[in-house]
Amino acid sequence: MTGRIHSFESFGTVDGPGIRYVIFTQGCPLRCKYCHNPDTWEVNAGTEYTVDEVVNKAMRFKTYFQNNGGITITGGEPLVQIDFVIELLKKFKELGVHTCVDTSGITFNPNNEKVVEKHLELIKYCDLFLLDIKHIVEEKHIELTNVSGKNPRSFAKFLSDNGKKMWIRHVLVPNITTDEADLRETKAFIDTLKTVEKVEVLPYHTMGKVKYDKLGIKYPLEGVEPPSKEQISLAKEILGVEKKC
Ligand code: SF4
Repeated sequence: MTGRIHSFESFGTVDGPGIRYVIFTQGCPLRCKYCHNPDTWEVNAGTEYTVDEVVNKAMRFKTYFQNNGGITITGGEPLVQIDFVIELLKKFKELGVHTCVDTSGITFNPNNEKVVEKHLELIKYCDLFLLDIKHIVEEKHIELTNVSGKNPRSFAKFLSDNGKKMWIRHVLVPNITTDEADLRETKAFIDTLKTVEKVEVLPYHTMGKVKYDKLGIKYPLEGVEPPSKEQISLAKEILGVEKKC
């Protein structure tokens, strides 16, 4: 089986516990305004790799990630290639590697039996999910990402109901995701989940802008500055950024 890959990072330190080999898959149906990887959006771009090619590439770095790290599959949105991701996870599990998937949860649909079955298979082979809650208010979620937040929220519940560990991540963008009432609602939602191991606040940054310029795409957050220290501390306090279990 083959999948489309955007790139690899050998020593990732921000996408899961410990040192991680990070696999960036190609393709994403969302259009988050703060996305710093617009070059991963196009599904037919990137390079085609077999499962074994990806696994062999990663295992060359095993000495670095074998202790308390592992591999992380991110994107783009990895689960648009869910069959490929499942096969990768299976191989890494066979090799005793800790596995993480970083997802928006967009591919989940609780009302579609086949989709649920596929995601049940996926979670068998993944140790930890990194799940973004992009916006808790539905209309603001659509405005921010171009898609509804219903399926991502259902995916969070699905992970919780199935005892699967997750880290929740929330990107903090001034005037878009910094509203106090919205943050409190986000926290209330997080509190309904039983398997959240960690909550992370990721401050928006403008480093992705150069990619938009290169691709000839209008930068959606022109003029928006990164959040202030005060905004970051307040969000962390409200969302309870700490180990929970
Ligand atoms: S889900 Fe990730 S890759 Fe896709 S648009 Fe949003 S931030 Fe970018």
